Amino acid sequence: MKLNLNIQPLSSWITAVNEPFLIAGPCSAETEEQLVATAHLLKNTGKVTALRAGIWKPRTRPGEFEGIGSIGLEWLKRAKAETGLPTAVEVATAKHVEEALAAGVDILWVGARSTANPFTVQEIADALKGVDVPVLIKNPVNPDISLWIGAIERINNAGITKLAAIHRGFSSYEKSAFRNEPMWDIAIHLKTLAPHLPIICDPSHITGNRDLIGYISQKALDLDMQGLIIESHIDPSVAWTDAKQQVTPAALAELIDRLILRKPEG
Ligand code: PEP
Ligand code: MN
Repeated sequence: MKLNLNIQPLSSWITAVNEPFLIAGPCSAETEEQLVATAHLLKNTGKVTALRAGIWKPRTRPGEFEGIGSIGLEWLKRAKAETGLPTAVEVATAKHVEEALAAGVDILWVGARSTANPFTVQEIADALKGVDVPVLIKNPVNPDISLWIGAIERINNAGITKLAAIHRGFSSYEKSAFRNEPMWDIAIHLKTLAPHLPIICDPSHITGNRDLIGYISQKALDLDMQGLIIESHIDPSVAWTDAKQQVTPAALAELIDRLILRKPEG
C-alpha cells in the first residue's frame, strides 16, 4: 500500500548548494545578537542551506523559557537580510502560521508535540489553505506512525505540496543513550509507504547529546535520508534551551566534513 500524497521533490523547492542538505540554527532565538551572530557564523561555514530558530517553544513542563515570541520574527528577518539564508520556524497555532507568513519566513515546521494532536494539525492545515510554503512535519513524540501519516495527509490535503517529514525520535520511559529513541524502523516504514516524501533527520533531538550527533547523522545518510536539521548556538554552554545538544557553528562544520556521503548509483 502506498499513501496518496501529492508531493514536489525536495530539489524543486530547496536549492541545496551543499550536500547533505542542512538546516541549522539555535534551538531558541534568545536575543537579536545571539541569533544574528549565529546566522553569520553558520553562513560562513558554507554548509548551511537554511536557518532554524524556535520562537514559540513547546515546553513539556511550565515555568521554563517558552520562547521569545513574535519579536523573534523581526530578528529572523534581519538574519536573512544580512546572510541570505532562508529561515525556518516552528508553528503550533493558526496565529503562528499567519504571523510567520506575514514576516516572510520561508519554511514552517510542525513540532513533535503538535503532530501528536490532530486538532492542532488541522488548525495549522486550515491556516495554510491557499498558501505555497514548504512545511516540515516532525514525527509525533510517541511511536505512532499513523499520527505522523495523519499529520502529513492533513497538511497535504490543505494544498501544501512542498512537504517533508522530520525524524526526531520517539520518547520512551526506558533509560538509553538517546533522549528520544530513533526507532529507525518507523522512518523506514514511512519511506516505503511514501517513497517520494523526503525525510530529514534531526539528530539533535534524537540524541540530546552533542557527542552523538555525528553518529546519528551518518546513520541517517546511510539510510538515504535527504537531509539534516541540527541545532547550533554561538555558545551552547549558555543556551537557554537544549544546551547539551547544541554545537557551535565551527563544530557543526567539522561534523559535516566528517560525514561520508552515499555515492550516486551507477
Ligand atoms: C525543536 O526543534 O527545538 C523542538 C522543540 O523539537 P521537537 O518538536 O522535535 O521536540
Ligand atoms: Mn530544541
